[in-house]
Amino acid sequence: MKFLISTIILIVLQGCRQKQQPIKITSMENKEAKNNPYYSRTDTTKLTISNEEWKKVLAPDLYAIAREAATERAFTGKYNDFDELGDYYCAVCGNHLFRSTSKFSSSCGWPSFFEADKEGVYYKRDQAYGMDRVEVLCKRCDSHLGHVFDDGPKPTGLRYCMNSVSLEFVGDSQK
Ligand SMILES: [Zn+2]
Repeated sequence: MKFLISTIILIVLQGCRQKQQPIKITSMENKEAKNNPYYSRTDTTKLTISNEEWKKVLAPDLYAIAREAATERAFTGKYNDFDELGDYYCAVCGNHLFRSTSKFSSSCGWPSFFEADKEGVYYKRDQAYGMDRVEVLCKRCDSHLGHVFDDGPKPTGLRYCMNSVSLEFVGDSQK
């Protein structure tokens, strides 16, 4: 009997543990910036680092998006539903990209901005997957950030559709 009870308790405990298993992956949070010698929010020197080298210093999800133009799943990004005051930097190199005041609530499932830092990004035509889109890249490290569309709100009419993984937010209160 005693054995049976402890077995049941064990099963219940394991069940609880298993339920807690799928922990939300908060992949970066400045963590890997510490292992990334190229990351700087003050140095604006252009970077020409090979993907081989980036692979060694970036988290796998960031590498896939920034260097291989992968896209995070809609509604999964940490900045999709997020509206704190502050600035958004390139998660790969620390280059300034967006101010929170240009962020708007979009239903597309990715963090969206109507204006980017002109010194922060550049554009490239992207005709992959049978679509004709404009890719947005970081001016300092050439990493893929997302795409820009012309269905955004005023005053620019633009919608910068970004991957949360590619962004690093620093709140005004943290400065
Ligand atoms: Zn960058």
